[in-house]
Amino acid sequence: MTMMSARNPRTGEADYEFAVSSRDDIAADAARLRAEQPAWEALGPEGRAKVLLRFADAVDAAAPQLAEALAIDTGRHAVAWIEVDGLSRSLRRWAERGPALIAGLDREAKPSASPGFEIRADYTAYQLFGAIAPWNFPVILTHIDAVPAMMAGCAALVKPSEVTPRFAKPMLDVLAQVPELPLAYVMGGADVGQALIEEADYICFTGSTETGKKVAEAAARQLIPANLELGGKDPMIITANADPLWAARIALRSSIVATGQACQSIERIFVAREITEPFLAALAEAAKAVEITFPDPKQGHIGPFIFPDQAGKVQAQIDDAVASGARVLAGGQVEELGGGNYLRPTVLADVTPDMAVMREETFGPVLPVTIFDDVEAAIALANDTTYGLSAAVLAGSLEEASEIGARLDAGAISLQDGALTSMVSDATNHSRKASGLGPSRMGDEGLLRFLRRRAMIIQTGDALPIDAYREGQSG
Ligand code: NAD
Repeated sequence: MTMMSARNPRTGEADYEFAVSSRDDIAADAARLRAEQPAWEALGPEGRAKVLLRFADAVDAAAPQLAEALAIDTGRHAVAWIEVDGLSRSLRRWAERGPALIAGLDREAKPSASPGFEIRADYTAYQLFGAIAPWNFPVILTHIDAVPAMMAGCAALVKPSEVTPRFAKPMLDVLAQVPELPLAYVMGGADVGQALIEEADYICFTGSTETGKKVAEAAARQLIPANLELGGKDPMIITANADPLWAARIALRSSIVATGQACQSIERIFVAREITEPFLAALAEAAKAVEITFPDPKQGHIGPFIFPDQAGKVQAQIDDAVASGARVLAGGQVEELGGGNYLRPTVLADVTPDMAVMREETFGPVLPVTIFDDVEAAIALANDTTYGLSAAVLAGSLEEASEIGARLDAGAISLQDGALTSMVSDATNHSRKASGLGPSRMGDEGLLRFLRRRAMIIQTGDALPIDAYREGQSG
């Protein structure tokens, strides 16, 4: 049996071992789930919703064990509880929305545009859904697509990140209480991810753009659909009419929650010259007031980097910016404390668009600020990125924000706030450019993508005789 270890981000110690799923394990799980899926789909939407609600109750009852395991892997306490609660709420939301959504699908026979035929649609779920998840929100992102997939009627085989595997063990106890639920985990890294793609009928991937391309290639070899939710470099435009103190508060929160290890974090700030001075002063002051959660994990705002390589990457971007003329107004240096890597919110002024911190995904609590004189130039700079995940606009009015937002090349735009996609689950959106490939995981499309539409084509008159195709009859 091959074993892997996971590191505790607060101590730096590799203190957890887990067994990697072998090819045979993965094939056996896939075969068992495929055998269970027809009965699961036959339960119907109401029957499946009842099971999802029982799963939600079992998740609630085991929340302390799940949150504790998650808190060790992520080094954060409050967010671990928010994640476990988020899974329960997602199960309840889909259990409520799913049956009405599926019942509302068009199943009526209608005359075809071709005379003599009628068409009726029916819907069947993909049999085996697969998901590959990253480490930044391990519980939420392992299940975010699996829950609507199961509500649609799929069985689900999912792979948590090998960086944050600890929650899977208490979750197996939860699953044992809901044996009808066709859900299983496979554990391991890239090889296990590739093996999962070979078993699945539909794959959802959340992670980096680089890995997303490999997943898309493997899915293409299998000829299965791949939904990709990838990296981002989200811009925030703050106009001259925005209140600078209000904007500073929003920019800080949108950038540093979960130590900035969120795909939809604001990573580039464009502020109008007229309000730059009060904005930067307020931002630096608010940034300095943020506390790291060391030594007590239950005190403070932001925890350690989950993945140690990430701390080095973020520091290199800061150092590169400073070497090219950026000024550090707060933070700036990764601190090693008790074996963990912490970075206080880092505000950088005088950054230019060519710096790595403005071009590459940072995935840390860094706020690079660029001044603009002309909003047209700010829009062009905001769109000058390979990514297109989300964006934000803070302006003097909703009208002003909306006009700018409509010109931003991203899948979701927060108006008069930032990073709202993490708080709103029903906003259908399609990630653009290197940030992903739809359909949307948010909104009703999050479930409907797992249903294949089958056309029942009905002959309402006489069937065509072969003579209709006899050569020399026409033309
Ligand atoms: P990653 O791409 O390194 O890994 C993600 C998952 O892919 C892991 O489970 C990993 O084991 C697996 N994997 C690695 N190589 C593979 C391969 N060749 N084939 C199949 N699977 C493979 O990403 P990460 O570092 O865990 O997560 C951070 C990234 O995720 C950031 O870029 C972030 O922006 C992105 N992210 C995107 C969203 C979104 O919704 N758009 C949400 C969260 C995170």
